[in-house]
Amino acid sequence: MSDLKATIDELVVANRIVAAEKVCDAFGHVSVRHPGDPKRFLLSRGRAPELIEAKDIMTFALDGTTVSGTGKPYLERFIHGAIYEARPDVQAVVHSHSYSVVPFSVIGERLRPIMHVCATIGADIPVWDPQANFGDTDMLIGDMRQGRDLARALGARTSVLMRGHGSTVAGRSIREAVYAAVMLEVNAQLQLKAQAFGPVKFLTEGEIGKIRARQSGGGPGEGYDRAWQYWLRHAGFEGDG
Ligand SMILES: [Zn+2]
Repeated sequence: MSDLKATIDELVVANRIVAAEKVCDAFGHVSVRHPGDPKRFLLSRGRAPELIEAKDIMTFALDGTTVSGTGKPYLERFIHGAIYEARPDVQAVVHSHSYSVVPFSVIGERLRPIMHVCATIGADIPVWDPQANFGDTDMLIGDMRQGRDLARALGARTSVLMRGHGSTVAGRSIREAVYAAVMLEVNAQLQLKAQAFGPVKFLTEGEIGKIRARQSGGGPGEGYDRAWQYWLRHAGFEGDG
């Protein structure tokens, strides 16, 4: 199996997983850097992640120009291109509007890791506000200027929230990005529950660093693979990925 076919197959599975785990509904998207050309990325044509098949996957240049594939692209493909442009270490990006995360984009209270499996989302999660540089917009990322502004807000981090909109996470692999996107939603749910009772003791930066080092260790059944195999079944796929 070629690298490209294997990558497209994993990208299709990733889309089904983010749908099954309710990170994405009708909206949101997952991309991966092209395995044979770092100046390209793979992303579905504009449709709900739950419906995506291999034939929907298109190829884009980092500025969002279509290189191959047919269909109407996602308007917000510039999120992905701008992050790949700014971050050579990033191999996959998930953008979502998951509902428990959105409150943390508008209340001035930071989303922070609260539970060990959520450490992947990162110790510092900024909120990008389009008002700062673009004034009143339709809140979507519709061009590279906005995409690059978001990428600057993300910086070297894993996660960034987008005010009144959603979030974007960047990973060193499809599995890491999907894991972070699912755990961003899980952490938001837990933080909303915990904060209802009073001040929260969050994970420390030292704890987050140690957990992330172990999670990305790799090997069968370790790192992100165990979660991937579990979510694979949830999404209706046979096999162990
Ligand atoms: Zn969006």
